[in-house]
Parts: sequence; structure tokens; C-alpha cells
Amino acid sequence: MFSSQEEVIEKEKRYIMQTYRRPQIVIEEGKGAIVKDFFGNEYIDCVGGIAVNVVGYSHPTVVKALKEQAEKLMHVSNLYYTEPQVKLAETLSLISGMDKAFFCNSGAESIEAALKLAYKTTRKKGFVAAEGSFHGRTLGSLSATFEPKFRGVFEPLLLSGMKFVRYNDAEAIRNAIDDDTAAVILEPIQGETGVIIPSAGYLKEVREICTERNVLLILDEIQTGFGRTGKWFCKEHEGVEPDIMTIAKALGAGFPIGAMLAKEGIEFEAGEHGSTFGGSPLACATALASIKVIEDEGLVARSRELGEYFMEEVRSAGTDSKPVVKEIRGKGLMIAIELTKPCSEIVGAALKRGCLVNCTAENVIRLVPPLVISKEQIDRVISVLNEVIS
Ligand SMILES: *Cc1c(COP(=O)(O)O)cnc(C)c1O
Repeated sequence: MFSSQEEVIEKEKRYIMQTYRRPQIVIEEGKGAIVKDFFGNEYIDCVGGIAVNVVGYSHPTVVKALKEQAEKLMHVSNLYYTEPQVKLAETLSLISGMDKAFFCNSGAESIEAALKLAYKTTRKKGFVAAEGSFHGRTLGSLSATFEPKFRGVFEPLLLSGMKFVRYNDAEAIRNAIDDDTAAVILEPIQGETGVIIPSAGYLKEVREICTERNVLLILDEIQTGFGRTGKWFCKEHEGVEPDIMTIAKALGAGFPIGAMLAKEGIEFEAGEHGSTFGGSPLACATALASIKVIEDEGLVARSRELGEYFMEEVRSAGTDSKPVVKEIRGKGLMIAIELTKPCSEIVGAALKRGCLVNCTAENVIRLVPPLVISKEQIDRVISVLNEVIS
């Protein structure tokens, strides 16, 4: 396609809006937890398409389902019934405990749907969200996103009734709820802010407060879903049932698809919401294949086991006692190494040694690898991180 890596990078700068700062690497292909660059160099990928590629790159079951569905029917609009969409909705209900699905194409869109559905269900326009939250970049979902670096020049945002309270503080939520509150919206673990894990009991208490005050609870499982934290969904760690739940990222194993799931009785009616591409046969067949792989290969349990393995190994390697390491924390294969200084240099140094890791919230190295990563690959990642952190 291009004759040199320089040409790709030059033309990217010329033709693409510079919304992302990218390292000097062009990725050509992937298999399992490994990606290859323009020159054929291999990297162990601990970014995993930002918690998307749970079943690994080019999983044969997923590729086969995608090809077969592409040959049959890619898109026909939501004006007609299609089997993969109905099957996926049924499957999601079984694995999530939610009742009904609305399909869309991304995380932000599922948040938009959730906020809109909360409006319509309660006829109220107030929301309580958490400091440090990330729910997306569209104007509505950005209204629920806390960080000033994302809100920036777009203030004031669409939803003026958004209140932000301290994360991991249930009392703050109790105090923020008033007669205009439609819903509380939370991530069960804050992803973009650096894998912030709330105390045990927090979500349960928030659930109780929402029930007591007759306010909806929206859980954003876009990053934590599909085995990432060692359960199908992070809410299971606490036994908490939201009224509305948003999913995307890992749902389609790399094919863009999102969904908003809700409990019985909380739903849109004809004409109240829609999406041209949402829940296309191609997206749904791919997602179904990915869910089957997660089940067949026991990836949910594997995420839990490998997460524990990672924690043990990284401690015995002494990574946590390095002076620049503030804390190492995680749940399943959602892991953060928090440093006392910005981690961009470390990301670059790890890249040179064949590991892709990313930096979130300035000083947090976030590891969300494919759940099919092997112990040997984890060992290699730990030894590289140890070396570059030293
Ligand atoms: C990534 C993410 C989103 C936004 O998803 P997009 O698909 O990028 O729109 C929303 N919430 C959480 C928790 C996320 O991690």
C-alpha cells in the first residue's frame, strides 16, 4: 500500500486530524496476543485494542463467523428482523441478567441511549456521576465525563443537570440525589482514570440508595465487560444489578458494536430511538462468535487466574518496590502500575523491547491484554517492565 513506514506516518499527519499522539509504529497484523509491525517485528500486546481484543487477534472462530455472515448478509437495516441480532440479544440477556437490549455501534452511543432512556423513564433531567469518570466523547456522554482535559473547550456541555461527586463515596451520592435526579451513572472500576477500584460494598450501597430514592442506576461496563475483570461483568463481584447497563469494547471482538441493556419495563418504544447500523447481522454474528470463544475457552476464569498470576509474579520480581512505582493494582486482566511520575518514556522503552503498553491518566501504565495471553508472555512483559522501570 505504501513503500515505507515514513510515508505512512507522513501522510497520516497530512490527511488525518491529529486527535491521537501515536508512537512510530505501523501495525500490520496480529495473532493471539501478538501484533506485527511494518517490518515484521513482533510485540506482545498489553493494550489489546483498548480492552477490545479479548479473544486475541484473528481468532479462527470469529474470523470464520465474520466471513460466513459477510457472504450471506452484512446489513439490511433495523426495518426488518434478522436472526443474529435476536440471538445476540437473547445471549446477552443470559450472560448479563439484564432483560432487553438496544444495539448501537460504540460505547459513547450506548451511553447516549442510557441517558436518553433515563430521561424518558423518569421524566427527570438530573444525573449524578463520579469525579474521574469517563463515559465517552459525544456531547451527551461527554457531559457525564468528568476530566477537564476531555471537557476542555466544549464547556458548557449539553446536560446542565450533571452533578459530580467523589468516586468510592456512597454518602456523597446520597447527598447529591434530589427530586430532579433521573439516574446515577458509574463505572464499576474507573478505566481511563487509571483502573480505580472502589472499596468492596461501595456499589452495593449505591444500589441500595438508588432503590430507596427511586433513582435509576446506570452501570457503564464498556471497559470492564466480557471477562476483563475475571467475571463476565464486573457487577458480579458485588452482586449488584443495575437498571441500565452499557457495553461495547470487547462485545464484538474488534468489530464495532455497542449495546445498552435494561431491566424489564425500562425501555424505548417505536420511534423513540434508533440507529441505522446498530445490531447489523455482521456485527451480531461476530459478537456471538466471540462470546462462544469466551465460553469455550474458559476465558473468564482464565482472566481471573492470569490476573492473580500477574500480581504474584510482578511482586516477586520486585517491581512494586521500585522507587518510581507507587502502586500496582488490578482485577482479572485489568491491571495498573501507578508511577510517581509520567509514564510516557516507559511506554516508549517497552515498545523498543517488544511490548505494547499504554499510559492513562499521565502516570498509570494500564495493562488490558487479550485474555488468551500466555503465562510465558506475561513473564516476558513483567521482565520488560521491570527493566524499563528500573
Ligand atoms: C471506552 C469507554 C467509553 C467510550 O466508548 P467508545 O466506544 O470509545 O465511544 C465509555 N465508557 C467507558 C467506561 C469506556 O472505557
